[in-house]
Amino acid sequence: MSEASILVVEDEPSIGEVVSIYLKRAGYQVSLARDGEAALVALAQRLPDLVVLDLMLPKLDGLEVTRWLRARGDTPIIMLTARREERDRIAGLEMGADDYVVKPFSPQELVSRVRAVLRRVHGSPLPGADGPAVFENLKIDPLTRLVEVAGREKTLSVKEFDLLWLLARHPRQVFTREQLLDRVWGLDDYIDPSTVTVHVRRLREKIEPNPANPRYILTVWGIGYKFEP
Ligand code: CA
Repeated sequence: MSEASILVVEDEPSIGEVVSIYLKRAGYQVSLARDGEAALVALAQRLPDLVVLDLMLPKLDGLEVTRWLRARGDTPIIMLTARREERDRIAGLEMGADDYVVKPFSPQELVSRVRAVLRRVHGSPLPGADGPAVFENLKIDPLTRLVEVAGREKTLSVKEFDLLWLLARHPRQVFTREQLLDRVWGLDDYIDPSTVTVHVRRLREKIEPNPANPRYILTVWGIGYKFEP
C-alpha cells in the first residue's frame, strides 16, 4: 500500500513541490504535472493509484481532467480547490471526484486524506461486512465493493459506495446529512452538507430503477435519508 503511485496536478510550483515532498515522505511514488494537458499525457501513459488534482489549471482545468478520468474508470481523485470555487467543487464531486481539500491546507491534512481514500479503495473489508447483501434487483458486496443492479455491474466512486453501504446496512434508519458526512467523509470543517445531496443524487442515478421516484434511497423530508430494503 505504501508503494501506491500518485499523480499530483498543480500549476502553483510551491504547492506542487510541498505536496510532492510530503507524499514522498509518506512513502508514495509521486509524479507531478503542471497543467491539465501534461496531466492527460501522464495519465494516458499510466494510470496512478490516485490523482491529487488542482481545480484551476492552465490549458485544461481540473473538471476536464476529471471528466477524462471518469470516462476511463474509477481512479480516485482528490481535488484541491480555493474557497471561492465552491460551484466548481460541487461540479467536480458530481463528476466523480472522491474528496476535496480547500486551499490553504496543511500538507499533512492532504496526506491523511490520501491515506484514507486509498484505504477505502484497496483496503480491508468494511466494518460489519460478511458477504453480499441483496435487495430485490440490487446486490451490494462489501468485500469486493461491487454493486450490481439487475445483474449488471455498476461503477461507484469510493464515497458513493461507502454512503450506500452505510445506509443499506441500517435499513429504515434515518440519517441526517450531518451524520452521513461524519460517517462517510469523517469529521471535517471543510465539507458542506450539499456534498451529501450531490452523492445521493448520483447514487440514485446509478442504482435506482427510476431515480425520480426512488425505490431504495428515500428522502425523509426535513431530516435526511434512509434505505428501504
Ligand atoms: Ca491552480
